[in-house]
Amino acid sequence: MIDIHSHIKLPVKGKKIFNVLTIDDFPKEKGLLFSVGMHPWYLQPQLWNNDFNEFEAVIAKDNVIAIGECGLDWTTVAKPDMQKIVFSKHLHWAEKYNKPLIIHCVKAYNEIIAMCKKANIKQACIIHGYNNNLKIAEQLIKAGFYLSFGAALLENNSNAVQAIKIMPIDKLFLETDDSDASIESIYERAGELLNMNIEDIDRQIEINFDLIFK
Ligand SMILES: [Zn+2]
Repeated sequence: MIDIHSHIKLPVKGKKIFNVLTIDDFPKEKGLLFSVGMHPWYLQPQLWNNDFNEFEAVIAKDNVIAIGECGLDWTTVAKPDMQKIVFSKHLHWAEKYNKPLIIHCVKAYNEIIAMCKKANIKQACIIHGYNNNLKIAEQLIKAGFYLSFGAALLENNSNAVQAIKIMPIDKLFLETDDSDASIESIYERAGELLNMNIEDIDRQIEINFDLIFK
């Protein structure tokens, strides 16, 4: 079972992309898969070229297979203009290094869609932890985004529970993020909601993964 986005660096049976939030945390372990990016929550009030250069050097490493989480969050302290500059950098890196993006988005879906479109991004863009309404899900699907669902699926009346039901199965990923829930429990719940058995979901997500991380 592939876990596309996790902050918990414990070994698992399947594949897991472990997300690194600051490059000082970048682990030396071999055999793990990483994503690295500048999360909007942790941006410093000043942007320095040096910070970008340091991040870029880590992003270029072979075991960093995706860029992120990065994105836009209109509820956090970092100014929108600065967030856009930083996200543009990540869009540029995605193309330069041929690595998909794992995107954090809060109340900024229009801007994310517009910026990815304007950058003419060829790499896969995965909105992680999707838990929003059907209308936004439809817009994202139409614009070619992948959506990844996590522990919100385990709640009874979450938006995620509704949104997963309209997902084209070839655009779907599942994740644990920072929750204690196991990836198995999330696959099981996704199976119930999609009326599919776990093996079929597992196989399909493997296909989705191989396609974008070729
Ligand atoms: Zn996360």
